[in-house]
Amino acid sequence: MRQRSASSTKRNFWSHLTLCGIIVLGAVVCLTGPRNAYSFVLLPPPPSQGMPLSIDLPTETFNSLGRGVTSFSLLAEGAASAWNDIGVGLSPDHAFFTKSTPRQRDPCAGIDGINTVTFSKTNCGLGWGDVLGITIRRWFEGNNVFEADVLFNDTAQWDAYSGPIQLFVTIGQVDDFTRTALHEFGHALGLGHPPGAPGQSAPAIMKSKSTDVDSLQPDDRDGAHAILYVRPTRDFRIDVTPESQTIRPGSTAEFVLSATATLQPGIQAIDLLSLTGTCPPNATCAFDSLELTNATPVTYKVTTTAATPIGQYPQRIVGIGGGVTRLTTAALTISAEVEEALARVFVTVEDDQGEPIPQARIRVKHQVTKEKIKGVSDENGEYVSPLINPADYKVICKQAGFAKVKEVITLAAGDEQTVNCILDPIAAEE
Ligand SMILES: [Zn+2]
Repeated sequence: MRQRSASSTKRNFWSHLTLCGIIVLGAVVCLTGPRNAYSFVLLPPPPSQGMPLSIDLPTETFNSLGRGVTSFSLLAEGAASAWNDIGVGLSPDHAFFTKSTPRQRDPCAGIDGINTVTFSKTNCGLGWGDVLGITIRRWFEGNNVFEADVLFNDTAQWDAYSGPIQLFVTIGQVDDFTRTALHEFGHALGLGHPPGAPGQSAPAIMKSKSTDVDSLQPDDRDGAHAILYVRPTRDFRIDVTPESQTIRPGSTAEFVLSATATLQPGIQAIDLLSLTGTCPPNATCAFDSLELTNATPVTYKVTTTAATPIGQYPQRIVGIGGGVTRLTTAALTISAEVEEALARVFVTVEDDQGEPIPQARIRVKHQVTKEKIKGVSDENGEYVSPLINPADYKVICKQAGFAKVKEVITLAAGDEQTVNCILDPIAAEE
């Protein structure tokens, strides 16, 4: 459900107070000024001429609804008007949201040119969980169509009231429709969640978790006024360090992802929130954050078990920003042998005159397992062992006509030791 079509899709979640975290898919450009906390959704901003909303919500009257309003449709219109009242863009003097004739369209079906606002029993086929609403932003670069659809959780307890979140012993939480609509419409016009999780300290209707804030706050206003009706620069790159790793089954590989992005003035960072890797069997793969900025790298961690099959596992890491996708790859090899954890011995063989002895027989014998590695010296009297486990080894150099030489060495992980065998000639009567 991450990518709903060829276009880029952004889904934002306005969650209950009790929700432990938020899920944001898509990309957000953050303004990291000293005072402001607002952020932008990194899709092209909506059209400067505004966004007609097709509000497909009940118009029946409810005596119980607060705020002096009697229908959900009117509550939604009020939320849209609140954004219009503070204004959107650098010249905040025009009505950004307008009202169009309600048309019943499936907001989950893809781009249809209608900005649908509706209740939905499901979160586009998924369970709602604790999520109260989502905004799906879509954009097709080809025909430059921008669309934002807003869905409200039809299974939630809705009402309308100002002030603190209302919790009732008998029926649980009652959700204020207006503040949820304000939040989702903020996404529709291009605002993201203020960065700085988990604190999100600025009071804002755009915070991802419900708060006692029941109306647009200065931070929301500043964010709306900072919306630029130009497409964000979408040039960015994701780099992975290291590009390849070899680990043993049961070990962990960590790749550090960094972003390089060139963005429009005033925007200092890019968030790349949709990242996926190809996880080897019997392994867990996780990012420590889904927000990758120019300043803050993300660690991608693959933790294998001893049962992870030996093999090559290319890691495909996808970043989405500004309606474009960037794929970067890293190579992960699960191997029983890991070079860095192994050791090697170099052997030189020469006679007592310092002349190299080629074709000398070399034995490298594990002192515990008694396993032997056999080899011969080359024309320069040199021999290089394969990578071997760190342990104590006896190195034996033999050549006909010479007394053999033995030396015991201790190889630690990563060691490369040299053993110089100087062979003395022996009497021929042997
Ligand atoms: Zn949200």
